[in-house]
Amino acid sequence: MTGERNGGDRDPVLDVRDVSKSYGAIRALDGVSLRVDNGEMVALLGPNGAGKTTLFQLLSGLFVADAGSILIEGHDIRHNAVPALAAIGIVFQQPTLDLDMTIAGNLRFHARLHGLGRRLARQRIDEELARVGLTERRADAARQLSGGNRRRIELARALLPRPRLLLMDEPTVGLDPASRADLLDHILRLRADRHLGVLWATHLVDEAERADRVVILDRGRVLRSGTPAALVEGSATATLSDAFLRLTATGATPA
Ligand code: ATP
Repeated sequence: MTGERNGGDRDPVLDVRDVSKSYGAIRALDGVSLRVDNGEMVALLGPNGAGKTTLFQLLSGLFVADAGSILIEGHDIRHNAVPALAAIGIVFQQPTLDLDMTIAGNLRFHARLHGLGRRLARQRIDEELARVGLTERRADAARQLSGGNRRRIELARALLPRPRLLLMDEPTVGLDPASRADLLDHILRLRADRHLGVLWATHLVDEAERADRVVILDRGRVLRSGTPAALVEGSATATLSDAFLRLTATGATPA
């Protein structure tokens, strides 16, 4: 996997090495290696059942890999879980706001869980709400928000502890096209402004096309990775969509 990154001298915020995970006889991940550098957005592109959610569960410490290693900011998640997990922010596939709580209440609760003092929490909540343009809605119950705005609040919440790596597991599921594009724009700005590493799982090629790099995952294996342009070029097709379809439909093997 050399020569595929944007900046060869950048530090990885996430380094996944040869990770495997099975559920009984089902091999959900089979020797997966990938990395995300600081300030880089990587799309993890895979069809249903590719293993994206399983990988996210390992990255967020919910399960342990059967083999291989995961380093977050250089900390091995198996042996040094506290600093490794402290460096990540997560937006899960399923919505996780408490809908009966106010927006500010949801954010305060998360800030407290992460040990932020009252003053710092208030300051960061104000900042994040302003950035997503929802300051005026802070006292509303979360259920009064649209799906797109709920996702924005989940994102704001994930950013409160100032993570170095943002994990987003199919975050646009259920959003209309305008809200999808809006969320993606927002993330691309964030990764540049804050020098944040982002791993964005999706099965949608148009989302992956906008990432700095794409990792194509299928049946638990990384088939290809590189910039969207390099992937198209290497597959002798005209678009990333064609490249993705060709690779996943023909049961291609890792390069
Ligand atoms: P989707 O896009 O549909 O969410 P995914 O890429 O996130 O798919 P996973 O949910 O990680 O893929 O699933 C990878 C494989 O592991 C699939 O074959 C799935 O059926 C299987 N699998 C996932 N979770 C479990 C589980 N708890 N028990 C048994 N098999 C599982």
